[in-house]
Amino acid sequence: MENKNCGCESESVDKSKESGCCESELVDESIKDEPKEDGGCGCGCGLNKEYPDESFIDNPNKPKFIAEDDFIEKLEKYAHSIGIKKVGYAQITPELLIKDKFIQYPNAIVLTMEMGKEIIEATPGPEAQKLNDSAYEKLGNMSYKISDYLREHGYATEVAHPYGSIVKFSQLGQKANLGWIGQSGLLITPELGPRQKISAIFVSIVNLPIKETNEHSWITDYCEKCGKCIKACPEKALIEKEVCCGEKETEFVQEHCIGCSQGCTYCIEGCPFDQKKYTHIKDKFDKMNAKLKLKQ
Ligand code: SF4
Ligand code: SF4
Repeated sequence: MENKNCGCESESVDKSKESGCCESELVDESIKDEPKEDGGCGCGCGLNKEYPDESFIDNPNKPKFIAEDDFIEKLEKYAHSIGIKKVGYAQITPELLIKDKFIQYPNAIVLTMEMGKEIIEATPGPEAQKLNDSAYEKLGNMSYKISDYLREHGYATEVAHPYGSIVKFSQLGQKANLGWIGQSGLLITPELGPRQKISAIFVSIVNLPIKETNEHSWITDYCEKCGKCIKACPEKALIEKEVCCGEKETEFVQEHCIGCSQGCTYCIEGCPFDQKKYTHIKDKFDKMNAKLKLKQ
């Protein structure tokens, strides 16, 4: 959960279903699995901190707004060269922000970085927490480097540190079509499953290659049949609750979670997407659904 609740990226979970008698709201389709609460910090841990800008290069006085033809390609190449796994793009909308913070540039470059296996293997406690914290710092430093790269090329930026409290990172990752939020509240991606940290850079570029479709929404159905993260959580921080019409939803109880305080990652470890390849899980799930359809 790149949320600080578990050293990962979860932001509480509300799996209310899309139909039924519950009240419905008009929400952005790509983020309709929005968590119920985020405790004010967006990472679930209650750390209500904003990070100072640690970019070395100042923002340009007259920033550029248009990315030239091959700039995005070069930017991604640079990001990968320093350890970023995946780069996505999204427009920031108010529901993605944790506080009423003024964001000068509403377009975001979203970055993911792998959480090392050592964090997952560590037993919750001071050592696991240290490993987890250092992963946040590592991605923070990468983000400042990419911010410098952008500023060097004439674009203005603001970094959303992965340990910070500006934006709901899992939801932003989903909106950037990098993956889909699972029942654990973690962003699940094809590259890393639930095992990543997420950061963002708000940037003056207005022609970012924002993808409008998200092909990962099937994960919601998969999660409904799985629920392993709920069982894996030793602290009852993920609770399945009956809601109206016989539907169920998962509630994240932030006060119970020891992800932030002890580097717990059992909900990551228990997730099939951390154990098997995304494509393998999807193939099996599609085949199972096809069989069920035939039987009906
Ligand atoms: S397993 Fe439970 S306590 Fe541990 S990080 Fe995940 S939600 Fe928090
Ligand atoms: S453990 Fe299962 S239910 Fe939980 S996020 Fe992973 S796939 Fe979804």
